[in-house]
Amino acid sequence: MPPSFDVIVVGGGHAGVEAALAAARRGAKTALFILKLESLARLSCNPSLGGPAKGHLAREIDALGGELGYVADLSGIHFRMLNRGKGPAVWAPRSQNDRQLYSRLMLRHTEAQDRLLLIEADVAEILVERGRALGVRTVVGTEYRAPQVILATGTFLRGLIHVGKVSIPGGRSGEPSSEALSGSLDRLGFRLARFKTGTPPRVDMRSLDYSCLEEQPGDPEPEGFSWYRDVNLSNQVSCYLTRTTPETHRIIRENLQLSSLYSGIIKGIGPRYCPSIEDKIVKFPQRESHQIFIEPEGLNTFEGYVNGVSTSLPPEVQEAVVHSIPGLEQARIMRHAYAIEYDFIEPSELSPSLESRRVKGLWLAGQINGTSGYEEAAAQGIMAGINATLALEGQPLLTLSRGEAYIGVLIDDLVTCGTNEPYRMFTSRAEYRLLLRQDNCDERLMPLGYKLGLVSDQRWRRFQRMLELKERELERLRSEKSSSHPELREPQKFAALLKRPDTNWARLAEFGYTPSPEVTPDILRRCELEIKYEGYLKRAEEEMRRFQASEELALDEDIDYRAIETIAWEAREKLQRVKPRSLGQANRIPGVNYTDTAALLVWLRKRQKTAPDG
Ligand code: FAD
Repeated sequence: MPPSFDVIVVGGGHAGVEAALAAARRGAKTALFILKLESLARLSCNPSLGGPAKGHLAREIDALGGELGYVADLSGIHFRMLNRGKGPAVWAPRSQNDRQLYSRLMLRHTEAQDRLLLIEADVAEILVERGRALGVRTVVGTEYRAPQVILATGTFLRGLIHVGKVSIPGGRSGEPSSEALSGSLDRLGFRLARFKTGTPPRVDMRSLDYSCLEEQPGDPEPEGFSWYRDVNLSNQVSCYLTRTTPETHRIIRENLQLSSLYSGIIKGIGPRYCPSIEDKIVKFPQRESHQIFIEPEGLNTFEGYVNGVSTSLPPEVQEAVVHSIPGLEQARIMRHAYAIEYDFIEPSELSPSLESRRVKGLWLAGQINGTSGYEEAAAQGIMAGINATLALEGQPLLTLSRGEAYIGVLIDDLVTCGTNEPYRMFTSRAEYRLLLRQDNCDERLMPLGYKLGLVSDQRWRRFQRMLELKERELERLRSEKSSSHPELREPQKFAALLKRPDTNWARLAEFGYTPSPEVTPDILRRCELEIKYEGYLKRAEEEMRRFQASEELALDEDIDYRAIETIAWEAREKLQRVKPRSLGQANRIPGVNYTDTAALLVWLRKRQKTAPDG
């Protein structure tokens, strides 16, 4: 008999690791397949986590009981809260990490997980019988069985690396591609397409001229991603800022025909918001200069990541480009940049639980669904891991709504709209971003993580205590009044004073307020935010409730939209393909208009009336 498991995860990247950990932690006997064990959770591009919207995702994953945020904190060497000057909805934690340490820690945590076995093998085929996943077969013919199979193969499916005019198969630098699995998916009827991404050169940090670089130290009081785990964060390195010059742009323009992208070798579509330097020069010819950040890759290496110079130009042109940048005139390139093309599966093949519609028990997570980025991948991974185990238990599957979490926005966008370019998360994608802040992910998602058994009792108790202290402090602020003060005609409630845009805690102290001794700066910040933004938050909550109501108008999976003649033909096709789970979701499908959903509503009402018990 082939070895058997409850859950098989194919892929040990950010999606696969979260999926496997969630499954094993929820009690499933789990196997994780990877092409090279030592590359588990490798940060393929920049060893950096978080940033706008991605930081939100990282903290949400952590609140649900995932690993990414915790390991990012443990391996972080530089922390910054971005957008501090803007509104609270867009504050975003970001870390620079020690690349090797991040992978090593993930490997250690994954190996130590009960019920989880790591297996180095190239999975070539998904075994399916009567529309149900049965397990996998490797390239050497070994079979492994499981009723739930999660695919998280990242950039590896028929991965092709490009440097100038040279193209070589590979899943990323130094690692093989996965050649056979795409064929198996193709035979199962999945729609595969090609995307492209790229990475910049790495330089020896000892060869830089620091007098020309602007130093970017970390925050004086670093903030990480993980909730209630007491990681001691410290800023140990700085990043450096420089800019491209007219000479850089000239070199790129004159050598465009040598780039894999502009010579037509690359066919796949690349990430619009993370473009190659060639793309930036061609698409924004009016820009005289672009920012370049030099970011250390770790504490035990001199390698530095040249953020902003992702390219597929040949090595000799890369040298010229790098040397044309102030501070990098003498830089020694340790690794050259490259681009990569890979297969992905159109995410409209998936239901909102991330289960494929084609094969029951087959779940897809990460870059294979057309996304780009570690956090996007990990977010899908933890959801696929949770849902595969809920399916095993015969429990209802979990979907997060757009009003609950960025994770909900991400998955809803993917399964509802599909994607025609590598999908990256932005704060602008979330309608209720004032509610989906990075500072309240624990309040939004930890109860769920705890209920699912992914958050420990110890963390849960700390969270409960925080809530208690916060509520008590809010109560004090709302009920207690200031002492008399020359600026006030009469004593006022502290909450009313704190609501004023120019009042902070120091100012409130002048009016006689002393926070309770146990209250931490984090709790004070939450109280201040809830009081200052009270009106906006209430409005956002009302809007969200209205939105949730339209989401609750459920649509059955078995509706045959092609037969509803009152709906436009294009909309019928789209509805049939996406099979929305609610009228709200149907409204968001591109190509489905308001008149189509109105016609659908009429059809639903008619059907209800004519139903035997209707
Ligand atoms: P990956 O991290 O790619 O992991 C895939 C895993 O699947 C690997 O462990 C592999 O061994 C395993 N695997 C694959 N096939 C098989 C098989 N058949 N059998 C067994 N195991 C298998 N993201 C950004 O946000 N911005 C960027 O600028 C950016 N640039 C990038 C540049 C490059 C060159 C690359 C390679 C990636 C870049 N990324 C970038 C993407 C980022 O690395 C991914 O989004 C993220 O790693 C995806 O995570 P994942 O878990 O889906 O897959």
